[in-house]
Amino acid sequence: AKSAGGNRFELADPEVDARTITRHGLTTALPTALARGEFFIEYQPLVHLADGSVSGAEALVRWTHPQHGVLGPDRFIPLAEHTGLIVPLGRWVLEEAVRQARDWQVKHADAGPLRINVNLSPVQLHHPGLVADTVEILERIGLEPGALCLEVTESALIGADDDLLKPLRRLAEMGVDIALDDFGTGYSNLANLRRLPVSVLKLDRSFTQGMQRYPVDPVDLKIVEGVVSLAHSLDLSVTVEGVETGAQAEQLRDLGCDTAQGWYYARPGPPDRLHTLALVDATG
Ligand code: C2E
Ligand code: CA
Ligand code: CA
Ligand code: CA
Repeated sequence: AKSAGGNRFELADPEVDARTITRHGLTTALPTALARGEFFIEYQPLVHLADGSVSGAEALVRWTHPQHGVLGPDRFIPLAEHTGLIVPLGRWVLEEAVRQARDWQVKHADAGPLRINVNLSPVQLHHPGLVADTVEILERIGLEPGALCLEVTESALIGADDDLLKPLRRLAEMGVDIALDDFGTGYSNLANLRRLPVSVLKLDRSFTQGMQRYPVDPVDLKIVEGVVSLAHSLDLSVTVEGVETGAQAEQLRDLGCDTAQGWYYARPGPPDRLHTLALVDATG
């Protein structure tokens, strides 16, 4: 074996180096990406479990990096949060998604009222312009607040004080739905849910993953059943994410979940595809 210590070339790990360079490259390219129009949004349908009809879609941002190609949000959202770019980027996503939802309503009124879900970073939650920006975008584009759902992660709201909840309360009072995203990954006190201005509970994929196994662990079933009944008793609707199989969808429907999202129905994709899905649905 090589002697310990010595020079740093010996210690260099090529993989770590590549990651560091990539990370640095991303950090420097990120500030100009918005102005260059390098971001785009994919839409993943949300489906009513009762009848399989499309209820709306979640907007998921991607970045076409000039060198690295298309990057998923896990690669750059943390950087955008760190640098503060998430505020203008988040506003851009909201405006694009609201415009898209309005477009669906105008062009495909027969498909029923399609709703749009947009992710909100905790950094945006702390930004004083959140409520005013959201109101301005909805009014200018002409989408009713009830067609918008803002998704906030459970971890962002753990221990949130009243100052942090105030903007969410105001949006909720206007009719915007607030969803508690990635539910089941944090450690929030279930009783605490009453205090939050949320109307939707989004069960994380990890929560329902056990249902892909067969036979399903009865304890897993009991847990989901318990969460659903608690959510319903608090007047929250339940969305499950990461539904990958038909058996899973059926089971979650039987357990009383309201809405589902996942590869079983559709992967995230361009907005035109949602027209097709919704129309197929509306015409039987
Ligand atoms: P999320 O909000 O939990 O979004 C769901 C993620 O699960 C998406 O990953 C989606 O593509 C993926 N997914 C959907 N169905 C399935 C399935 O059946 N199986 C599996 N294995 N995965 C599925 P994506 O698009 O890579 O987004 C990752 C995360 O990035 C999102 O997690 C969200 O937290 C964040 N994100 C995406 N867009 C935005 C945005 O505009 N703003 C902010 N702040 N965060 C965003
Ligand atoms: Ca989400
Ligand atoms: Ca989620
Ligand atoms: Ca998740």
